[in-house]
Amino acid sequence: MRRSLLIFFITLSAILFFIPKITYSLETAVTGHKIILDAGHGGDDYGSTACYGLPEKEVNLQITNKLKTLLETDAAKVLMTRSDDSTHSNNYRYTFANSNGGEVLVSIHLNGSSNVFTDGTLGLYGKIGKDKAFTQVLHNALWVGLNYTPNFIDFGVTNFASGVLLKSTMSATIQETVFISNNYECDLLNNSGGERQQQIAQSLYNGLINWFSQPQSTPTPKPGKNKQTLN
Ligand SMILES: [Zn+2]
Repeated sequence: MRRSLLIFFITLSAILFFIPKITYSLETAVTGHKIILDAGHGGDDYGSTACYGLPEKEVNLQITNKLKTLLETDAAKVLMTRSDDSTHSNNYRYTFANSNGGEVLVSIHLNGSSNVFTDGTLGLYGKIGKDKAFTQVLHNALWVGLNYTPNFIDFGVTNFASGVLLKSTMSATIQETVFISNNYECDLLNNSGGERQQQIAQSLYNGLINWFSQPQSTPTPKPGKNKQTLN
């Protein structure tokens, strides 16, 4: 009887010891931050259809779902402009981001080219002050995470006048993560069992960790506008 009681208490302490490790996620740089994820295209808008049987809109959503899971494991607050195959205007996307108080907006796309051998990654920003540094950080993470891919080119970051970028009030970026029109990418995205989508999501996650690790990513009051901060 005593022996079974002892075993009971040992088992109970073992359970209590392990429960906190299972229940609580590790705090990281993204923990508690509100992140808006925008899967490009959707519904009537297929995006690039260069990869046979796998439209860009579908892969964008697959990557976005994987990125959401990674971020939520770290207890980030993630909101998606779409979680199914619905059609949304750019107006809907930036209004959703603004009205939900997103701290950053990541619009996820795949690039297309008539050259089936072209592959690489490109970051797009709207306003220099609001978007460029954020775009660069995420672009760098995609490059670091994916540049082992054969013939993968760094297309850098460039200005692009999209309403999603220009009308959103937070740091926003469109990431043309890889070229879905590339034969090799198309094959990977179709046949890797989601592993390629996971690699892209992981790279974007790393970029968000890097962004929120930087002290300058916290908005600083503009001099003269908040008089209580002077002196
Ligand atoms: Zn696109």
